[in-house]
Amino acid sequence: MTKGKKRTSLRGAINNYCKWCIFDSTQGSEGGWRNQVAECTSKDCPLFSVRPLPHYEDKSKLELVRVGEFDFEEERARKREERLSEKES
Ligand code: SF4
Repeated sequence: MTKGKKRTSLRGAINNYCKWCIFDSTQGSEGGWRNQVAECTSKDCPLFSVRPLPHYEDKSKLELVRVGEFDFEEERARKREERLSEKES
């Protein structure tokens, strides 16, 4: 380790690794890199169960995301429908 350089925590190292692995700044994902990590589908990755996730108020959603069972496509479709119906009203 370089003298004077701050040591990275295990959490920080995992976060940095997942961000390095999956983040694509051209995607313009809502909420940034944590959302892209949340959508990771590599369940065989040793870091999958400890990957960093965004904060979710809905704990049942958090659990589904954590285990890789949340349907992000369905949620995006639902949000598109909501936006469309808001524009129409
Ligand atoms: S959990 Fe996903 S984003 Fe994180 S290192 Fe593994 S494959 Fe990459």
